[in-house]
Amino acid sequence: MSENALENEIHYCALHPERDTELRCNRCERYMCVDCAVRTPVGYTCRECVRGHEDRFFEGTVIDYGLVVAICAAGGALTTLALLLIGGFLILGFIVAPAIGGAAAQVALQLTGRRRGRYSGYLAAGGVLAGGIASALLLVGGLGIFTLLYLALAASAAYARFKVSI
Ligand SMILES: [Zn+2]
Ligand SMILES: [Zn+2]
Repeated sequence: MSENALENEIHYCALHPERDTELRCNRCERYMCVDCAVRTPVGYTCRECVRGHEDRFFEGTVIDYGLVVAICAAGGALTTLALLLIGGFLILGFIVAPAIGGAAAQVALQLTGRRRGRYSGYLAAGGVLAGGIASALLLVGGLGIFTLLYLALAASAAYARFKVSI
């Protein structure tokens, strides 16, 4: 008799207790009404499970983005250092700056398993600029127009590295 009672039990949406439903989430198995169900390629999922899935995905890319920014900022700092070292031969900056910017982006790509989000290129360029400017301010207390120009070159090299080849 108890088994029978279970079979005939009326189920209600977990979020809308006034709505009876037989629809269940294919992940957490809770009952849900048609408004709470989201159609996915593998069946119906509740909104919370969909959101949870997106959150996890987002978290992964945030770590990737953080790594990209950190490594490229280090690359920017290195660019500034290199420019200080070559001092009088500023023409070398045209070669050195893009090389370091590109190399930093390459390292960032390797460390993030070549996953790149929509904003990776911008973050790489921003990281190079921020790291370069910050270290210029720290090391020489100012920012020359040439330093800025070379940092922009390094940043665009880093940006390009994220754009080419998938
Ligand atoms: Zn669910
Ligand atoms: Zn509902």
